[in-house]
Amino acid sequence: MTSAIATHRFDDFPTSTFRGELIRPGDEGYQSARLIFNMRQAEATPALIARPVDEADVAVALRYASAHDLPVAVRGGGHGFDGTAMPDGALVLDMIGFKGIEIDPETRVVRAGAGVLLGELDAAAQAHGLVVPSGTNGTTGIAGLTLGGGIGTLMRRFGATVDNLISCTMVTLDGNVVTASVTENPDLFWALRGGGGNFGVVTTFVYRAHTLDHDVMAGKILFPFEQSQEVLKSLAEWMPTAPRELGLICALLRCPPLPSVPLEMIGQPVLVLVAVYSGQLETAGPVVAHLTGLGQPLVTMIQPTPWIKANSMFAAGAIYGRRCYSRGGYLSALSLPTITVVRDAILKAPGPSAVLSLWFLGGAISEDFAEDSVAFSREGAGVFWKGISQWDIPEQDETFQAWLDETAKALPLRTNGYSNLTDDQGEAWRRGLWGSVEKLTRLRAVKAQWDPRNLFRFNKNIVPE
Ligand SMILES: Cc1cc2nc3c(=O)[nH]c(=O)nc-3n(C[C@H](O)[C@H](O)[C@H](O)COP(=O)(O)OP(=O)(O)OC[C@H]3O[C@@H](n4cnc5c(N)ncnc54)[C@H](O)[C@@H]3O)c2cc1C
Repeated sequence: MTSAIATHRFDDFPTSTFRGELIRPGDEGYQSARLIFNMRQAEATPALIARPVDEADVAVALRYASAHDLPVAVRGGGHGFDGTAMPDGALVLDMIGFKGIEIDPETRVVRAGAGVLLGELDAAAQAHGLVVPSGTNGTTGIAGLTLGGGIGTLMRRFGATVDNLISCTMVTLDGNVVTASVTENPDLFWALRGGGGNFGVVTTFVYRAHTLDHDVMAGKILFPFEQSQEVLKSLAEWMPTAPRELGLICALLRCPPLPSVPLEMIGQPVLVLVAVYSGQLETAGPVVAHLTGLGQPLVTMIQPTPWIKANSMFAAGAIYGRRCYSRGGYLSALSLPTITVVRDAILKAPGPSAVLSLWFLGGAISEDFAEDSVAFSREGAGVFWKGISQWDIPEQDETFQAWLDETAKALPLRTNGYSNLTDDQGEAWRRGLWGSVEKLTRLRAVKAQWDPRNLFRFNKNIVPE
């Protein structure tokens, strides 16, 4: 595979029929075009970055790739943890031009192009008092996020992003434009809801939005590290019965310089609860009181907040272009041994960017949608654990990776997982990712139908059956 890509020169790319921008190494703008969130493969040099302007352009590029038997990479928002959007020597379809968003406030149906970022979707939907449940970072692409599943602080209330997807428009390898929905190509639609970019290039996503036309109660509560065990233990007991309107992510990290944080705390390990209560503000009191009463917080910064601001609380940590490693996995529940592992691990973190977080599932995402309704898996998952670190020096790769690998090894992670918020762990790991042999078999059959030569392989790859 690698040699086929490396030797291909793209001199015969159909420039007369492709109307979008074509960017090659050495061109002005090439360096910024290839920049993605995880630049761990900093030396990777895509041979041709093609920016289609419409579906006809996507079709031109895919027919060309198909005729030359060339694997194709796709870039949405560039946030993929594996950095597979910009592989060495490859043809990349960069969907940055697909920025259209159409909203019908009556039906609450939202159509968005594959180049839209979560912050752009939030802003457009909020203009109508609506929200599409997605992730926690405004610069994440809706494309990669949706195709993997999509989890965030509204998942306990409305489910994962894929649970709110009505249809997709996709360009196939032979250049056809197809719709995938429960009535059209239903197997493909099932697979696109969690199977990632394995099947074709999605150009449009259609979502069912929800009403969210008031401020939410949101913010951070910081507890000293010494209280973290008790706080997490209490949360493990309380969260299964907590209101669905509460989205909660708990992060262990070295305290960043946040407003209101005492100077002496900066750099010390702390537990931060990142809470978003999306119910009516007048019902938030008991929830906030419960969270702040879990211990003696160092700082409480929780207040009525517009949704867009509430969903930007992680923005400071999303810096493009650094080296990155991430591990994530489901836990059946938050047990005391797990709390001990993550507390010990944060004390051994090799750098200040390291964060270990615990995302509480439950509510809609766990109870309202059957495991087999979509490819995305959530069965048996009470909590999603995620570790991430970013650094800049290649010589530190091994140290940062080993730290997270050892932490993951010490945790009772389930076999099923969430493909998006973790680096790929290889073929054996992927076999368990979607939850069951039946689901994997179904995914492989869909893959065989739409991409039998596995040309869409820069992803959490599903090998055709
Ligand atoms: C800082 C940060 C915060 C995050 N927060 C969350 C979160 O809160 N919740 C959550 O669920 N996830 C989160 N993620 C993970 C995120 O969902 C995945 O990394 C996702 O893949 C990013 O999508 P993208 O389009 O930005 O990435 P890209 O790197 O552009 O794409 C990732 C992969 O998706 C596929 N792909 C992209 N576009 C298309 C398309 N149009 N057609 C077919 N395939 C396509 C390709 O295989 C590509 O390699 C976060 C990631 C980062 C870096």
